[in-house]
Amino acid sequence: METLFKKIQSKTRFLSPFKNFSLDEIPFEIRCDPLTGETGRVFELPFKAPELPDMKETIQRSKEIFCPFCTDSLGESTPLFPEELIRQGRIQVGHATLIPNLVPFDTYAGVSIISAEHYIEMENFTAEVMRDAFSAALLFIQKVANFDPKVRYFSINWNYMPQSGSSLVHPHLQVNCGYVPTNHLRLQIEGCNRYRNEHGTSFWRDFINAEKENRERYIGEIGSTFWAMSFVPQTFLPDVSCIFNEHYSLIQLGVGELECFLQGFSRILYYFNQENIPAFNMSIFSVKDDEHFRVNARICPRLFPRPIGNSDRAFLQTLHKESATVRFPESLCPRARKIFNARS
Ligand SMILES: [Zn+2]
Repeated sequence: METLFKKIQSKTRFLSPFKNFSLDEIPFEIRCDPLTGETGRVFELPFKAPELPDMKETIQRSKEIFCPFCTDSLGESTPLFPEELIRQGRIQVGHATLIPNLVPFDTYAGVSIISAEHYIEMENFTAEVMRDAFSAALLFIQKVANFDPKVRYFSINWNYMPQSGSSLVHPHLQVNCGYVPTNHLRLQIEGCNRYRNEHGTSFWRDFINAEKENRERYIGEIGSTFWAMSFVPQTFLPDVSCIFNEHYSLIQLGVGELECFLQGFSRILYYFNQENIPAFNMSIFSVKDDEHFRVNARICPRLFPRPIGNSDRAFLQTLHKESATVRFPESLCPRARKIFNARS
């Protein structure tokens, strides 16, 4: 079978000031995402994330500005769902509270506040800490699906800390449900249909088998969840993908599968923390009723790469819609795999 992992290898040449202006060649790869066909530039620079920034000042400022999710303000300052959708106005699961999102990202948009804790360090996101908020998110998705059968696309998302784009320090998930897929989800759906038409087999099964066989990016499996570093990373540093091997929709997900995901997710966050990564974006992509699709997640490290405090996204990502990654996922994978499996 032809490879799923297509890439063009190239190099750029210059007279290097670090090598007495002798000729230097820097190799790079243009990689093609096996599912969506999107390309990304991947190279290996001697980049190491700076020491973890001291977040004390950011946390203090976030409290002074105002936090709608802290216990004193939550009841008064956050909206309620219309009664016909959520009878009590908000969903409460253990320590988590799910409220409407004031930002209209989709027809049904919720915010699942993890707990009353204003700040939680990344290494402390155990499965137990995250369980209530994800359970509330799944409950919201089920309620939306029952309330409005026309809704076909779901996602659970997370921006953690300002480096990731989050305006609030207080940890919260964002749940979107609607009629129109986002660009990336649409490309995933089209990609898996195209693959099935061309090969007569499931992309997801072939992909998982190929990653397990070559082991270059393979991290591990927990229950029916499969974990690997992404062949075409979306971010400045390589990201991690998870596939829910047996589920096409978040509506189907039970307690057991959620637990497997949260165990793996927590280990990836622990790994990020060990690598001095202060922030992340996470999305879980899901359809409602396409049995050929598979629920999948992406966990992307975010950081300010240089001491000036620059963003890790620039013209290439914003305008060319092309990712650029300064380390090969294959270089980082052995350490990620070791940490992931040591915490089982
Ligand atoms: Zn707060």
